[in-house]
Amino acid sequence: EDKLDYVKSKIGEYPDFPKEGILFRDIFGALTDAKACVYLRDLLVDHIRESAPEAEIIVGLDSRGFLFNLLIATELGLGCAPIRKKGKLAGEVVSVEYKLEYGSDTFELQKSAIKPGQKVVVVDDLLATGGSLVAANELIRKVGGVVVESLVVMELVGLEGRKRLDGKVHSLIKY
Ligand code: IMP
Repeated sequence: EDKLDYVKSKIGEYPDFPKEGILFRDIFGALTDAKACVYLRDLLVDHIRESAPEAEIIVGLDSRGFLFNLLIATELGLGCAPIRKKGKLAGEVVSVEYKLEYGSDTFELQKSAIKPGQKVVVVDDLLATGGSLVAANELIRKVGGVVVESLVVMELVGLEGRKRLDGKVHSLIKY
């Protein structure tokens, strides 16, 4: 059985959510399936082992990126950190405003989360316009980290988000 085909078959599709005209790809549809969880973990971890073995910390984006950053980090024996929406993180933070596929928001990262020169993999559920990952990359640079790869489960290829990103970008599933 192909792990990727299996995971893909479990991802939900919701037309006109959260707004008319948007086809929402729902990772939670896959995560209710025990086998899909294990396969997804294997696919993400195997990819990082091969593509970014130098990674030192896995950063997840608020909020579905958090489903994967700790998961990947524990498998690889690394630490992890969150990038969160404004006002959620304690202590000193760096901030950046960014545009979403629908709306705009501010992301923050704790200054203490990443050591200067540390090699970072950023993970999220889905790459659309790339605004979120561009903002995440900027935050990580601001605290002195080096993004070695951006990794997502799903990519909306037509929106060309990857063109806005420097460095390696990988998606498991392309729509
Ligand atoms: P971008 O910043 O335009 O690349 O949008 C990516 C962000 O929006 C990610 O954090 C996604 O979780 C969210 N997003 C956009 N479209 C979808 C979708 O169809 N399904 C799930 N999340 C989405």
